[in-house]
Amino acid sequence: MPLVSTDDMLRAAQAGGYAVGAFNVENMEMAQAVVAAAEKLRSPAIVQTTAGTLRYAPPELFAATVERLARNCSSAIAMHLDHGDAYELALDCARAGYTSVMMDGSSLPYNDNIEITHRVADAMRGYGIPVEGELGAVGGKEDARSADKAAEPAARYTDPDQAAEFALRTGVSSLAIAIGTAHGLYKSAPKLDLDRLSAIRARVSAPLVLHGTTGVSYAVVRECIARGICKVNVATDLRVVFTQAVRDALAASPEAIDPKAYLKYGRAAVQARVEEWILAVGSENKSI
Ligand SMILES: [Zn+2]
Repeated sequence: MPLVSTDDMLRAAQAGGYAVGAFNVENMEMAQAVVAAAEKLRSPAIVQTTAGTLRYAPPELFAATVERLARNCSSAIAMHLDHGDAYELALDCARAGYTSVMMDGSSLPYNDNIEITHRVADAMRGYGIPVEGELGAVGGKEDARSADKAAEPAARYTDPDQAAEFALRTGVSSLAIAIGTAHGLYKSAPKLDLDRLSAIRARVSAPLVLHGTTGVSYAVVRECIARGICKVNVATDLRVVFTQAVRDALAASPEAIDPKAYLKYGRAAVQARVEEWILAVGSENKSI
């Protein structure tokens, strides 16, 4: 089917008490893996690329690849810009065929974050594209060179009252919140502020988004979903799984010269992990 927006997907998840996985891809193989997992489990899925990934290859290439994969898939697939860092990038993605964008102004002062997020949401309305904002700051760095969270800035937790005001003033369709998770790999298991999540959910009707999930147990992720998380981002986990599978394949066959011969192991490993996440967030058989 054609690419769909994240709006209906996330509202259905909110009403149904599950979440939709949003899976970061870096290449064609990872995109194939995510869509194949969604097809197999009849699950909606969000394919997403960060601003850093779009400096590696432009949005047109990712949008064309994922649009083509989605067309041959009977499950609903959305194409999302993760951690958009500029108004122009959101526009580039909209014009390229993305069906959802994030404007991450969380590193800016509160009023500047409202201003830029509102501006992007206004512009995207003309394209029928929903916008995810972020308030508070998820720790770590989504495009860190090493996956070490320790060297990265600490999280600033989201204030529930401010979240309500932010959602109202920006007109975002979904909101990423900071409750103790961080991007990259954890040195020790994170302790999440689940009561804060419930307090935010009580004040904000827009679907809530959890970033920094790699290393958070599936049980804790499910607890977050029960308290109002509707979109679960998975990035580092898939990068690690893909790279490890390719590294193992090359170690086993050092004479390999055909990229297909080892990238297929990365693709298969990512598909298996995405299937695990789909079952963990409860979105199997939920494709509309
Ligand atoms: Zn993130």
